[in-house]
Amino acid sequence: MRFAFGGIHIECSTYSRIRSRAEDFTVLSGQALSDAPHFAFLRSYPHPFLPTFYASAVPGGPVERATYEAFKGEFLHSLEELGPLDGLYLPMHGALYVDGMQDAEGDWIAAARQVVGADCLLSASYDLHGNLSRRVIDNIDMLSAYRTAPHIDVKETMQRACAMLLDCAGKRIRPTLVWAPVPVLLPGERTSTEDQPAKDLYAQLAPRNANPGVLDASLLVGYVWADEPRATASVVLTGTDRPTLQQQAVQIAQQYWDAREDFRFGVPVGSIAELLDQAEKSTTQPVILADSGDNPTGGGVGDRAEVLEALLSRNFDNALVAGIADRPATELCYQHSPGSVVMLHIGASLDPQGSRAIEAEAEVLFLLPTGDHREREAVVRIHGVTVVLTARRRPFHNISDFTCLRLDIPSFKLLVVKSGYLSPELAPLANPNLMALSDGSILQDLDRLPKNQFRPPTFPFDRSFPWKPSTILSARSPQATQ
Ligand SMILES: [Zn+2]
Repeated sequence: MRFAFGGIHIECSTYSRIRSRAEDFTVLSGQALSDAPHFAFLRSYPHPFLPTFYASAVPGGPVERATYEAFKGEFLHSLEELGPLDGLYLPMHGALYVDGMQDAEGDWIAAARQVVGADCLLSASYDLHGNLSRRVIDNIDMLSAYRTAPHIDVKETMQRACAMLLDCAGKRIRPTLVWAPVPVLLPGERTSTEDQPAKDLYAQLAPRNANPGVLDASLLVGYVWADEPRATASVVLTGTDRPTLQQQAVQIAQQYWDAREDFRFGVPVGSIAELLDQAEKSTTQPVILADSGDNPTGGGVGDRAEVLEALLSRNFDNALVAGIADRPATELCYQHSPGSVVMLHIGASLDPQGSRAIEAEAEVLFLLPTGDHREREAVVRIHGVTVVLTARRRPFHNISDFTCLRLDIPSFKLLVVKSGYLSPELAPLANPNLMALSDGSILQDLDRLPKNQFRPPTFPFDRSFPWKPSTILSARSPQATQ
């Protein structure tokens, strides 16, 4: 049997003014894709998974149309060249948004279906912050989504999607796919699987795979910063026993709907000023403050300097801000040596309309040695605040992100990161963890989001509409054509 794999993986805020361009993506094809550590698990299967094309990027703004079309063209071309396939594995995110196009994953996946034909099985893995659509569902045969947020089961999810594909292809079964959309959209920070009620809702999914006739059960909270018709939570069941799949999908969908008022932020939240007051009074350290509206790993721009400005205006002592994406400021630092004092404009470098820059005299402390200008990172000090400036948009989620800049997190009274819920490495260090409902293109305070243009009635944007769960059968499912 012959299988292939490839796709596009990005999460795009439709509220962002910046665009995701070709240079923002890591693009892999051919042998480089086969050799990628992310897909190393595919080599353990008894049948070959042939590489096509895979583009992935840090979440951001909508993808430029020309970039998307070029990527799709390369993907389809490599798929065509492989000839007849028994199965195709699509590692997708699910919150792709392309300029001027609704339901971009639907476009990508429908195009893939056209190339591989009706007999080829198609299995997709999704982030649980992905949005589904009728077109996606009607073109795939199976789906697995992450069951943890923060995502610590990425590999397991990909393996489930591929194991199902191999299993069904080997047995020559075309499975049944059942989708139950739920008109609820909440931010990931209120639906972390480390907190209730998401913790229990997600814990019950894995045991459902053991039911006869069920191959996989997924619950997707969807992506709230996408103002498009398909944006919604979803329950998806893949298996062979349609009545069981429908009954289970309805049950999970009803549970999610019933819990909709119970989702809370897992940590104390407030305005930047309120939380800096708390941080000042804290007798423990490091306080870790998440600047959530500008979190690049959720689709925020990552160039805003409001928290830095607030820290400087109150003469905060011993804080670390990591980081602010500002290429011009970073480059200026690299023109000087550590120990030099430079006048910097920091902030609003990518989205000048979104926020404003501050001007400050800064001492250059450290410059990350790298031959690649895009990887440049400068550590500077402005009075009592240490700031990491970066040439590109990037998160600071891992301890190694700090140690390679010679920064010791516990030595700071306050660490400010552009994040939502903290990463698995940072969360245990936070003493305590606070989250600012700060401005940005992924505003957590949904009441302040610009009015929807395209979404149908959805909680919590609309609160009084009747709803009962119902299921939609993929047009690919055997029973759909009988
Ligand atoms: Zn996610």
